[in-house]
Amino acid sequence: MPSLPPPPIAEPRKSRQLNVGGVLVGGGAPVSVQSMTTTVTADINATLQQIAELTASGCQIVRVAVPSADDAEALPIIARKSQIPVIADIHFQPKYVFAAIEAGCAAVRVNPGNIKKFDDKIGEIARAAKNAGTPIRIGVNAGSLDPRLMAKYGKATAEALVESALWECSLFEEHDFRDIKISVKHHDPVVMIRAYRLLAQKCDYPLHLGVTEAGPAFQGTVKSAVAFGALLAEGIGDTIRVSLSAPPVEEVKVGNAILESLGLKERGLEIVSCPSCGRAQVDVYKLAEEVTAGLDGLPVPLRVAVMGCVVNGPGEAREADLGVASGNGKGQIFVKGEIIKTVPEAQIVETLIEEAIRLADEMGAD
Ligand code: SF4
Repeated sequence: MPSLPPPPIAEPRKSRQLNVGGVLVGGGAPVSVQSMTTTVTADINATLQQIAELTASGCQIVRVAVPSADDAEALPIIARKSQIPVIADIHFQPKYVFAAIEAGCAAVRVNPGNIKKFDDKIGEIARAAKNAGTPIRIGVNAGSLDPRLMAKYGKATAEALVESALWECSLFEEHDFRDIKISVKHHDPVVMIRAYRLLAQKCDYPLHLGVTEAGPAFQGTVKSAVAFGALLAEGIGDTIRVSLSAPPVEEVKVGNAILESLGLKERGLEIVSCPSCGRAQVDVYKLAEEVTAGLDGLPVPLRVAVMGCVVNGPGEAREADLGVASGNGKGQIFVKGEIIKTVPEAQIVETLIEEAIRLADEMGAD
């Protein structure tokens, strides 16, 4: 008898669990979505404003850059007023790590490639972090790999990234500190996937997935979806950050959409629209865009089908919560599989929006 295919999503890899300011990471907790502010952290109002926008878009953990003393001084207020846990991102200055821990940040990110001076401070950092219950992310980045490993491997290979991360972990472990999560980011999804697979075999720390310098929105979305999809489907990855050369809210939307596509998060609003073809009797692209824009932000798991003709249209529209099958200047509107009315083409968008809002109300949306 032929063996059954493996399940599409593997069981999550067994990892230690961290509490990042109330968001559990690893140990079977749901995969969380992170982003990073683009404001100058010392500009407290602008940073908090951006954090509020990120929170509203579904971001669960936010990271802020701390390159200067002014930024470090802003941390206590930002950590206190942010609606979601704040991670301080620190590269060169060990003193800012202590400042971030004292400020009440939910975690601190350090980069082994940029913190050589840190090695003799690890004991102090481990003690301070342990006393405060502050996890540390060891964030290795291909672009700033430890020069020692660069010399050994010649370039930022998957093995080099993993060795750098595990070396830094071992320094913390010497001080009995294990509240660690790890990232090994590379701009090339192939190297990145290999690095995380290796890392997943060699430790049980929770893993923060990221493709670094992934590029502008389109390219970055594709690279992140491919890389995260491959790893998450194998059960690897506990928290994700999509990096885009685009506003951070876009990163969060992409991150959540990746999790929803894999069934790792409850689906929100989903537009099912046909690609159009020679049978289309309506401008499907325009219709789908207008419906998507009109329903943007509707906080309910609703599947809305926008179909261009009466060949495949009724079937898909019937399967969705709400749908339209267009043809002959009209649209048949389906709700939960039944045709509830037929409207002129010009009224399709407004009718779908009205019906979606009515369904959302029935589902108890605010
Ligand atoms: Fe073509 Fe109709 Fe299918 Fe759209 S639903 S792709 S118009 S056959």
